[in-house]
Amino acid sequence: MHIHCKVTENRGEGGRNRTLFLDRRFEVQPGQFVMAWVPGESEKPFSLSYENGITAKDLGWYSAKLLDLKPGDSIWLRGPYGTSFPVREGAVLLGGGVGIAALLILAKRTEDPVILLGGRTAEEIIFLEEFEKTGKVRVATEDGSLGAKGLITDLLPQEGRYYCVCGPDKMMAALKPLLPPEKSFFSLERYMKCAVGLCGQCTCNGYRVCTDGPVFDGITAQEMTDIGHRKRKKSGGWEYS
Ligand SMILES: Cc1cc2nc3c(=O)[nH]c(=O)nc-3n(C[C@H](O)[C@H](O)[C@H](O)COP(=O)(O)OP(=O)(O)OC[C@H]3O[C@@H](n4cnc5c(N)ncnc54)[C@H](O)[C@@H]3O)c2cc1C
Repeated sequence: MHIHCKVTENRGEGGRNRTLFLDRRFEVQPGQFVMAWVPGESEKPFSLSYENGITAKDLGWYSAKLLDLKPGDSIWLRGPYGTSFPVREGAVLLGGGVGIAALLILAKRTEDPVILLGGRTAEEIIFLEEFEKTGKVRVATEDGSLGAKGLITDLLPQEGRYYCVCGPDKMMAALKPLLPPEKSFFSLERYMKCAVGLCGQCTCNGYRVCTDGPVFDGITAQEMTDIGHRKRKKSGGWEYS
């Protein structure tokens, strides 16, 4: 069932990222997502970055429409859906690109996390100050405009009791062999339609990202050879990276 919400604020987060704050709070576990429907346009999945907010990057036609919403405009959400990250001591959180948004609630609910953030440029490192309030943050940017020059993988090894990852598929594929499978969790992104496990659009090696995920344990993620390799397009056919 869709829940009607009104936008209360549309806040720029740097680069092409913006957060829509809503007039309603959701009971959410860290890493869960909602389906955000703009009537007449489409409905797509977004992680909750706040109990009352979603953060999106202006990437294509739908995100542009979504981020054009103004305070007072209506949006309909369903969810929260999917599996979540565990909340335990000794967490290392690794986020890349707009995937960083999916880690904010987790950072706030974890005691003294270590947070590793990666992006192409400084603009892509969103919520830096908010993460710094929660734990120790280290940053890598490809152009060296913030933190170390390089990739998030260059910030490893980092000692932790467990690792939570959310970012682009290529980043997941690069991190998988570097993290202990039995102590890591990966949040995957796939093109989604129904979000309730029926249509099969979001499958990754037979797992439904909407209901079996989006957060998978590292042992399962090790088996998922599609990560960093192929995704289903809107048509259902494969797109190879
Ligand atoms: C569980 C889940 C949670 C998600 N959470 C968020 C979130 O918190 N914030 C957010 O912005 N998006 C999130 N997404 C992605 C989001 O649902 C849309 O796919 C995204 O907004 C692009 O939609 P679009 O129609 O604007 O662009 P499209 O027209 O689908 O894509 C435009 C171009 O951008 C490329 N592209 C699409 N998505 C990405 C990406 N993530 N990284 C790099 N290139 C991409 C496409 O290949 C295409 O070339 C999530 C997806 C899932 C499955």
